[in-house]
Formats: sequence, structure tokens, C-alpha cells
Amino acid sequence: MSETKTPASATPKPTIAIPDTAHYRRETRLVHSGSLRSQYGETSEALFLTQGFVYDSAEQCEARFTGDDAGFQYSRFSNPTVFSFEQRMAEFEGAETARATATGMAAVTAAILAPLRAGDHVVASKAMFGSCRYVVEDLLPRYGIESTLVDGLDLDQWQKALRPNTRTCFLESPTNPTLDVLDIGEIAKIAHAGGARLVVDNVFATPIWQSPLELGADVVVYSATKHIDGQGRCLGGVVLSSQAFIEEHIQMYLRQTGPSLSPFNAWVLLKGLETLAIRVRQQTENAAAIADALAGHPKIGRLIYPGRADHPQAATVKKQMGAGSTLIGFEVKGGKAEAFRFLNALKLIKISNNLGDAKSLVTHPATTTHQRLKPEARAELGISEGFIRYSAGLEHKDDLVEDLIAALEKV
Ligand SMILES: *Cc1c(COP(=O)(O)O)cnc(C)c1O
Repeated sequence: MSETKTPASATPKPTIAIPDTAHYRRETRLVHSGSLRSQYGETSEALFLTQGFVYDSAEQCEARFTGDDAGFQYSRFSNPTVFSFEQRMAEFEGAETARATATGMAAVTAAILAPLRAGDHVVASKAMFGSCRYVVEDLLPRYGIESTLVDGLDLDQWQKALRPNTRTCFLESPTNPTLDVLDIGEIAKIAHAGGARLVVDNVFATPIWQSPLELGADVVVYSATKHIDGQGRCLGGVVLSSQAFIEEHIQMYLRQTGPSLSPFNAWVLLKGLETLAIRVRQQTENAAAIADALAGHPKIGRLIYPGRADHPQAATVKKQMGAGSTLIGFEVKGGKAEAFRFLNALKLIKISNNLGDAKSLVTHPATTTHQRLKPEARAELGISEGFIRYSAGLEHKDDLVEDLIAALEKV
């Protein structure tokens, strides 16, 4: 399948009525928005596991390609199940529109790369997910897009890094894995004053606890692989923004380069959204209880949880987040050897580099997600050899605390 003509409307238009749910509260939107109920009246959303679509006539096919006829053409461009997921995400987040991608990294790459051209400049906070840092630091400069990495907590550094050709500022908050909380509203003001847009990777905060668009960001991206699926099954991603940004920069890029979300994965993620609020609330409650149980333990050095009063940016957390997230960072005293002894002694909690799952997961960032960084870069970010990232699951919190304390006793 190939085509070169730019469609009159880049936005897919389903032929089934989209439910009117925008006026409901957020939890209700998570369950009902974007459902395209067919003539059979199914309760659960149908899965349109199809590559393409057939037309009544050559004329209809032509009209579909010009955008004059509503409906779908090819699942690389759009698909009813993928559309439902996008619509539910957009209504939930309060964005004008959304586009889904095969992975979180496809969403991050599209949001950063697609609007830029050689000669443009990007400013990003240096504390970020390893692959995001690769895109900003290694990939963009190869195509003539320069980037400057700043200490995201230092507003002065954002200000000073901006150049006349800065088009995009990028950050994640809380940061991975050290859980610094960056002031999204203030950074958005600095970016806008300099003529740049702010793109926020909101995975660690989750859409339940932080709404970057309301805080002033222009674009929000998610790895749906994390809390949105939340049950360890599918990869996925989503870019949310204004209609203008998506149509001008994202729609054609995704359609023509092809990092499309599979309809099957879109269906799983759509069902994941229905339980997202209760899962994230429970996981956050567990994380808060565990952070309190571990803080001050003699085998633990620094412990960072955005929900605690001793978090270094507690005031910013209060200003922009509804709660402290599902993740905790802490340092096992004694470096890598003791950190590994601790990880290997856990019985219930699983070692995995994933996060946001129903199962509690722990990772050692220095040897996994941030292994690629030079030791000095890790040290600068506060990722010591004893640092552990813990993602709280849905188990009973007492079982989790007991597992953690028993493993610390082996250190
Ligand atoms: C996991 C993650 C990504 C990448 O998502 P994938 O779905 O694995 O491609 C990007 N940013 C953050 C903060 C993440 O945690």
C-alpha cells in the first residue's frame, strides 16, 4: 500500500458515533470515552484486528483517500480500536487529540524529532530515561539538531541554555530513577518566553497524579507499557497535544514512517485504562507505606519518595502532583555487592527493569537502565552503585514490607 497525496483531513473519522463523555469526571471517562459500539451492542469494546478496510466502490475508496468520506483506510494510518484508545486517552488527559504508537520510545521520538529540522536546538533535563537521553544526546545531533542537557532542577540553567533556534524543551518528572521533581509550570514559562514548546514524559507521575497540559506543557507523552497496561503484557505509547500540533507534526510522520500501535495491543491498553485509576491509587498507597517503613532503616542510606515531606522538592510535589507516584528510590549501603545481595534475597518482589506493573518490581539502574552512561554521568545524576528503584505493585503492603526488610537483613 502506498500513497503520496496529503489527505484533506489528517484526523481519522470513524463512521460509528463517538460517545459524548467529555463532561463526565475523569474516572468515568477512563471507562467510557472513545467506545465505538457496533450494531451488535457489545459491552466490551470490539477488537478490530485487521490490516485494511474494503470499500463499496472505487469512488468511495477515492473519497476515503481525499478525506471526504469518513472511515478507515489502512491500520498503519489508523484503526478503529487504536482510535478508541487514542480518544479515551485524549479525553482523560484533557488534550485536544492523541496519537498512539507501538512503544513509549516511538512516542517520545515522534514528539521530539518530527517537528524539528537541521539547525534547530533542543534543551532537555539530563535526568531522564536512558533511551530518551540517547535520542536527545546521540541521535538528534547526527541530523544537525543540537541539544543542550541541563540540571532540570535549576531554572537558571534552562534559561541560559535557550537559544534563538531552540524549538523544544523536554523533561520527565519525577525523573528516572532518582525521582527529582521538576517545576513544570516554571519551565513551561521559560520555554514559551523563548519561543520553544515544552514536551513532558509523564510516565513516572502517571496521568492520575499529574496533568502537564494543565501546568503549561504543550505536549505529553506516555509509555503505555507502564501503568496504562500495568499488567506486563503489551508495549505501547501515546502522544497528546493540540489538534494543530498533532496534525502539523505528528500525524503524517507516524503515518509515513510506521511505528503504529497494533490493534490487539490497543485493545489491551483500552481495557487497562478502565482500571488505571484504582490500580495507580492502590500502588501509590503501597509505595507510600513502604517508603515510610524503609526510611531510616540502618541498611538504607538516602530514600527518595515524592510523597514524603522529606523529599527535596516537596513544595513542587504539593504544587503539581496529586500524590507521590508508585515509585521509590533508595540506596542500599555498601555499593553494588550489597545491592545485589539485597536483590537476590528478595522472594516476593521480582527483579525486572520494567515498572508500573501489578507485580512489585525492583531494578538496579547502574547496571541496567543507565548502564550505557559513563560512571561520571551516573554519579552526576545521583545513580550510585547501591541505588535501587522500586516499583510498587498491587500485593498486600505488609507482604511487601516483610520481603524488603527480610532481604535487607541479609545485607
Ligand atoms: C519505559 C519508559 C519509556 C519508554 O517506553 P517503552 O514503551 O519501553 O518504549 C520512556 N520514558 C519513560 C520515563 C519510561 O519509563
